[in-house]
Amino acid sequence: MKNRKVHVVSLGCPKNQVDAEVMAAILQKRGFDITREPGTANIIIVNTCAFILPAKEEAIDEILRMSRWKKAGMCSHLVVTGCLSQRYGKTLEKTIPEVDLFLGIAEIPNIAHHLERLEGGPRLSRRSVVGKPDFLMNANHPRLLSTAPSTAYLKIADGCSNRCSYCVIPTIRGKARSRSPEDVLQEAQDLAKRGVKEIILTAQDTTAYGKDLEEKQSLGHLLKRLSTIKTIQWIRLLYTYPVGLTGDLLEIMKKEEKICHYIDMPIQHSDDTILRAMNRRGDSRQIRETIARVRTLIPDVTLRTSLITGFPGETKIRYNHLLDFIREIRFDHLGVFTYSREEGTPAARWPSRISEKEKQERKNLLMEEQAVISYEINQTLIGSRQDVLIEGKSDRPDYGFYGRCRRQAPEIDGITYIRGENLTIGKIAACTITDGMEYDLFADMA
Ligand code: SF4
Repeated sequence: MKNRKVHVVSLGCPKNQVDAEVMAAILQKRGFDITREPGTANIIIVNTCAFILPAKEEAIDEILRMSRWKKAGMCSHLVVTGCLSQRYGKTLEKTIPEVDLFLGIAEIPNIAHHLERLEGGPRLSRRSVVGKPDFLMNANHPRLLSTAPSTAYLKIADGCSNRCSYCVIPTIRGKARSRSPEDVLQEAQDLAKRGVKEIILTAQDTTAYGKDLEEKQSLGHLLKRLSTIKTIQWIRLLYTYPVGLTGDLLEIMKKEEKICHYIDMPIQHSDDTILRAMNRRGDSRQIRETIARVRTLIPDVTLRTSLITGFPGETKIRYNHLLDFIREIRFDHLGVFTYSREEGTPAARWPSRISEKEKQERKNLLMEEQAVISYEINQTLIGSRQDVLIEGKSDRPDYGFYGRCRRQAPEIDGITYIRGENLTIGKIAACTITDGMEYDLFADMA
């Protein structure tokens, strides 16, 4: 074998990104070199997502794109990991012969063993290893961080025990499994020692944290303990289930200075019939009440949500309810997916007459409405002071650097451009907002 270089591509959500970071670090410890250049790698790993059709399509495209390096003789093995492997590995083994090995979720900690097996001998006869998705990382697993300097995701749990009728995640990732608070704390301390200033808590539903543990734990208590880590300056929470945003949790978010006043609460829809069909906990009234409570308690909160258009039974009237709801609530940030019929989910059995074109048009209209709302909100920020975590040099004229303020989560929310010369990447700088567009903000050093 000519070299032990491995290139890892990670698709999908931050939870998947953490898995890729763990695999890359395990491989590095075992003597593999991790390279950013697929053209120099002998082994390419594509860590995939498979929760909706576009994610599956993206994964297949990426696998085929990476397989070109193999065809060109540059790389000798192509390995697919993550949700697509877990869900379809056994089938894909037959349909994508370019792939040497499909590995399920439980194989994440065994990645080095699998690659060494590939290196060592003839092509394996069994090209998929997919078992029960029961892997849960812990603080002893190494990680090769792939996020911007000073930021790291912290996966506090994996799997999901909710049963939203459209969602295949519980089948792919298994039941909710929380890490112990001590273990999460240990990893957060390790990340802090590595210079991380912002930790971003992730799970399929972060508000479910600790409920599955023998000795029940709460997210609020975990947040309090994480806040005691000296050099961690920001703690951000993603994927909070609306009814899980209890008064206690909000009080802690308000009191603990390090916790960003940022709430990502995917509501999926606002119409009660649709919410019931989605098997979501809580109705439109409860969502409204939660938002009102959040805004009363934390007036400077940034609210993000995600929605699904075209769910079976979403009539024009029910869609208009959603549109009106978005106009009324005025979220700061919004993500919209079109409904994807996923086999194995209850909703997949229900008839739907909504065409893909219609779903897309409904999504587009929501996004257009949101663009106006986001622009108007960002304009109101002009003159306000915001701390910005500097992430890199900008190629925009006049703005030397870019970063994110507490209002902005990485990848999903836009960035802040900063006018200034001698800023240090990885540091938090006090800035004054000078302009705001639909997504991005512009600032001067305060
Ligand atoms: S909360 Fe619902 S949508 Fe989110 S991962 Fe769990 S089942 Fe899927």
